Amino acid sequence: MLNNFLKDLSDEDLKIFNEEISNFLPVEIIDSHVHLWKKDFFKENISKNRLNQNPALDSDIIDGFTIEDFKNVTEKIFPGKKYDGLFFGLPIKEANLNKTNEYISSVCIKNSSYGLFNSIPDLKEIPQDFFKNRFIGFKPYPDLVDFKAPEDFSKLDIDVSIFDFISKKVLDFCQDYGLILLIHLPRKDRLNDRRNIEEIKAIGKKYPNIKIVLAHAGRSYCYSDIKDSIRYLKGIKNLYVDTAMINSFSVNKVLLEELGPEKILYGSDLPIATFKGKNIDINNRHYFVTSTPKPWSLSSSEMNLDSFTFSIYEIIRAIKLAADELKLSNEQIEQIFYSNAQRMISDINKNN
Ligand SMILES: [Zn+2]
Repeated sequence: MLNNFLKDLSDEDLKIFNEEISNFLPVEIIDSHVHLWKKDFFKENISKNRLNQNPALDSDIIDGFTIEDFKNVTEKIFPGKKYDGLFFGLPIKEANLNKTNEYISSVCIKNSSYGLFNSIPDLKEIPQDFFKNRFIGFKPYPDLVDFKAPEDFSKLDIDVSIFDFISKKVLDFCQDYGLILLIHLPRKDRLNDRRNIEEIKAIGKKYPNIKIVLAHAGRSYCYSDIKDSIRYLKGIKNLYVDTAMINSFSVNKVLLEELGPEKILYGSDLPIATFKGKNIDINNRHYFVTSTPKPWSLSSSEMNLDSFTFSIYEIIRAIKLAADELKLSNEQIEQIFYSNAQRMISDINKNN
């Protein structure tokens, strides 16, 4: 199959990998935030307004990111590494979640990998053969809450509670088996919304066996998203964060200082992280800057931005910068990129 994803791969990119990144990374890597899907999983067309507001729905990638694409991309841009993923679908309202979950399961069985189940908000019954299908947790999504917002309204910011899209059944099941619950925070103020903090604290306390993982460290792409709220997260023993699309040294530094490397899971958000550019912080808001103009990014058709590299390298660079500053050991770096996720997986397998 033709790979659309690295059409702008250059020698300069590989030079960055070889000179800055390769030695920093362990040989084995688990990327704990990877979306896989195929175009025919969509049961309806995605409206133009929605396509324009979200990099995940960009016309360059919306036609799918398969396991073959994943292998092809990671072999090319992580040469010499053994790069595995924790896989889940693209859980948007237009997707047929049954097909999505079946695909994730088939991929994981074939490749001895693991996946997270995309659950509907009011899931009442745990699917059969959950573990046999190689699921080790859930990835619910606020976007799936049936909320009558205008089409052009960013649904990720809708004012819903975490409990509106994660059912009690899911929470109880995760608690019983010590599973991963990857939470994409709702509400526009993210961790600066005390209701989100209270809800995460409540889950942490009531369900101590759940491995709670905040996707994108609670969508903290800016330092201001996390600098005050980090102190509330510190006390939650079963809370982890992933680094998906975080390109900020300051965010990584505060995560490492306050939570410690044992609570951080490297995640990329592939295939979004194949866009060349960076997720930047201006006046406490985040913006995507991309080498080619997108409806959802800052760019310039006049300037030559060919020197940009992949956001996935910028994710790793931002971790490296913070790791250097804090003088992390090789073992601590290996925890972030591999063994924290591996330990979760073995722990779940041992108990089930
Ligand atoms: Zn994602």
